Amino acid sequence: MSERRRILTGDRPTGRMHLGHYVGSLRNRVRLQDEYECFFIIADLHMLTTKNSPQDISAVADNARGMVLDYLSVGIDPAKSTIFLQSAVHETYELALLFGNLVTVPRLARLPSIKEMARAALIDEDTIPFGLLGYPVLQAADILLPRAHLVPVGKDNQSHVEITREIARRFNNLYGDVFPEPADLVEGDTLPGTDGQAKMSKSIGNAIFLSDDPATVRKKVFSMYTDPNRIRSDIPGTVEGNPVFTYLDHFDPNVAAVAELKTRYRAGRVGDVEVKERLATVLQDFLAPIRERAEYYAGQSGLVDEVIYQGTLRMREVGAETLRQVEKAMGITGSFNRIARKAEDRAKRLAAQGAG
Ligand code: ATP
Ligand code: MG
Repeated sequence: MSERRRILTGDRPTGRMHLGHYVGSLRNRVRLQDEYECFFIIADLHMLTTKNSPQDISAVADNARGMVLDYLSVGIDPAKSTIFLQSAVHETYELALLFGNLVTVPRLARLPSIKEMARAALIDEDTIPFGLLGYPVLQAADILLPRAHLVPVGKDNQSHVEITREIARRFNNLYGDVFPEPADLVEGDTLPGTDGQAKMSKSIGNAIFLSDDPATVRKKVFSMYTDPNRIRSDIPGTVEGNPVFTYLDHFDPNVAAVAELKTRYRAGRVGDVEVKERLATVLQDFLAPIRERAEYYAGQSGLVDEVIYQGTLRMREVGAETLRQVEKAMGITGSFNRIARKAEDRAKRLAAQGAG
């Protein structure tokens, strides 16, 4: 296809995308897709490490559709990038199993991120499933299956790209060069929640979703946390750590107007209502083209499914080529070929005897 260097990144299909995802990752992906050949993974196998009930699994298709609709609506272009469903690419499972021999259990068990994920999923430390311990190994398989060079990740996943590099290095040293050692690209800022908590998160209920309608966005903005000490608009307010201003910094293109508003806020010369009114307008302006693209894609029945389907077929091709190289380098192909040859010889011999 092209000589562009490759990127692998993605999300677990657990819900719709919000402003935090936009600031942290989506914005960056849209920018990177011209320079790199991007592979965006809908990581449903990763979801299984903490959520694997039949209900969770049956929600994957719809969640994937919603998530990909959000991708497309911010400007990820399926003509440039590959969006695929992890569980439908069987080479991922094979590679993950082979990689399991290239990393030690203590190396994985030491990772704070695994303990953190277990905590978040209410899993006790001594009942951590093998699959959750192996999360970084599966991630290494995701990254190295398309032989990616660059991995945009959140800070919490940086250590997993480190493990991916160790696995790639170990593989190349043992069996010969197949994999690049991918670099990690730490994602953008963390956006606080509407409640003032450090992180906007869909499971906390403090998120503004890209797919929220105008009335919902307005309602969420007007119920936002601000400076709690400011019970009247003539009391000087604090801008730092005030999520309303953090959002304005991120989404208001008029930097001078935001600076002026901050000055008045600090001096106690503007009410919260005016500030929130501005933020509501800014967010509607920001979301308008996103909603327009979402309508375009959602308006054509089966289009989002086709994007995922075609992307998955493409990823399968790339994955099959990688697996071919892996099995050849390791000599796995040779074992079965030698056995098959003997068996075929015997079959031919018997056929010749029967004929004679
Ligand atoms: P959950 O509540 O289920 O944990 P979430 O809304 O926190 O969901 P995740 O699926 O955990 O979203 O996040 C996927 C990735 O999106 C994270 O690794 C991170 O890089 C990015 N991300 C999520 N929330 C934010 C945020 N508030 N600001 C910046 N980036 C974010
Ligand atoms: Mg989270």
